[in-house]
Amino acid sequence: MTIFERVIAGEFGTKFLYEDDTVVAFRDMNPQAPVHALVVPRRALPGISHATPESEALLGHVLAVAAEVARREGIAGGGYRLVINDGTNGGQTVPHLHVHVLGARPMAWPPG
Ligand code: AMP
Repeated sequence: MTIFERVIAGEFGTKFLYEDDTVVAFRDMNPQAPVHALVVPRRALPGISHATPESEALLGHVLAVAAEVARREGIAGGGYRLVINDGTNGGQTVPHLHVHVLGARPMAWPPG
């Protein structure tokens, strides 16, 4: 069971910024920006590299929810960044697909 499955199960009392039948969003416990949320499918997919054609509708929904979370967090007007880390070189630490929503400060490019 991934740590995110435990979050989704309510084990830590995490407040959801958004939830529906397939996706939840909550604040990152170690924020890298003034707004830093995670959008996580309820059903664990280890990462974007494990996506299949059957995942496409879910992936589209995850991105749409990320944009909705940005609106709800008040960062849509100023711009924001969505990040998906995958695997070791991608910096992924939790093997349960998630999209980071980062904003309320300027983002550097390229990322470190
Ligand atoms: P990644 O490195 O892309 O796999 O991102 C995993 C993110 O999950 C990190 O930014 C962590 O701070 C965050 N994280 C891990 N456990 C929790 C948790 N229980 N609640 C909120 N965020 C978490």
